[in-house]
Amino acid sequence: MAEQDLAAIAALRVNGARLWDSLERMAQIGATAKGGVCRLALTELDREGRDLFVQWARDAGCTIRVDRMGNIFARRAGRNPDAAPVLTGSHADTQPTGGRYDGIYGVLGGLEVVRALNDAGIETDHPIEVVIWTNEEGSRFAPAMIASGVYAGVYPLDYGLSRTDASGTTIGEALAHIGYAGEEPVGGTPVHAAYELHIEQGAILERSGKTIGVVTAGQGQRWYEIELEGVDAHAGTTPMELRRDALVGAARMITFVEALGRRYAPYGRATVGMIDAKPNSRNTVPGRCFFTVEFRHPDSEVLAQMDAQLRDELARVAEAAQLGHKIEQIFNYAPVPFAPACIEAVRRAADALGLPNADIVSGAGHDACYLARVAPTGMIFIPCIDGLSHNEGEAITPEWCEAGANVLLHAMLASSQSGQR
Ligand SMILES: [Zn+2]
Repeated sequence: MAEQDLAAIAALRVNGARLWDSLERMAQIGATAKGGVCRLALTELDREGRDLFVQWARDAGCTIRVDRMGNIFARRAGRNPDAAPVLTGSHADTQPTGGRYDGIYGVLGGLEVVRALNDAGIETDHPIEVVIWTNEEGSRFAPAMIASGVYAGVYPLDYGLSRTDASGTTIGEALAHIGYAGEEPVGGTPVHAAYELHIEQGAILERSGKTIGVVTAGQGQRWYEIELEGVDAHAGTTPMELRRDALVGAARMITFVEALGRRYAPYGRATVGMIDAKPNSRNTVPGRCFFTVEFRHPDSEVLAQMDAQLRDELARVAEAAQLGHKIEQIFNYAPVPFAPACIEAVRRAADALGLPNADIVSGAGHDACYLARVAPTGMIFIPCIDGLSHNEGEAITPEWCEAGANVLLHAMLASSQSGQR
């Protein structure tokens, strides 16, 4: 490429005002009284949002494909029609009391990249595709990230299509109903590189004054169910030393779990979110207690250490308090390392744009976490005010909004030139 072309490319920026306007327009679909958005997966409102995206993408010269999970791919052709696409995108569905940016920011940020390339008349070697992944939130249909999961081969297609909502409607039926039951096979074709632009949904970037999070990994998760068994006993007549109090055992475990999360700072997370003491009567010593434990960390080795310490401590506490104990691991989700080449492309783009940035680990699950199994993948975070997300008050600034899209633009530009990831 000629030198002046390279200079022109380096100077390229998205149109932040146009992106902001598109976000505002999209936020009207499913707008709530409190300023948020309720656009549940595969509802009429989701259809409206999808239709608007498809119309905008067609206006920007993209061709549209829809696969059997209803994932929408808007493609901007590249110089080499046989080259694998550079993908970007996120989801358009929301939580019931969702915000205006979770998901859709990554979709419309991708569309803005296409529009900016069109404005500048830039042709990339690889085609560029902007994706809407179906049902990321898992709110109407569980599990979350089902359609990117099918795309990545985590779930079979039949499983994806047969998930039901509370009324018994399947994803397959809901897709047909809103006109997004596509014909294309789900996944199975090469992707050159993939990026997902998303709000952080936490407060780390804002607190440290960074505009861009270079996401290096997604947290792994382990979930446990634990039961302690003692003896129900009279609260007045049973002396303290004769009690076998299951709730006290659980309390010791709760403080241990919390300390374990702190021990593995800054990435460690350890939570007891649910507890059920029996018989739950104010004058009976609780003879049985059920509780859950959830660990998150980006390193599987650390998760294995947390697992071992949890089991040791449980055995110790149970023995000391003369309690029976049972522990079952019910979920084991391996950490997701993102591709070094994509991480580097994001970091380089942020540096070149002069944007304060820091490496960060994603605490939440994202479509990109599944995509990373089948394509070199990276993520870009921008802050959100007070870390608020899955909340109608979710907010970002126009500056952050524009900055994130510019990083996406330049990371994708770097990946879409031949020979580059
Ligand atoms: Zn999201």
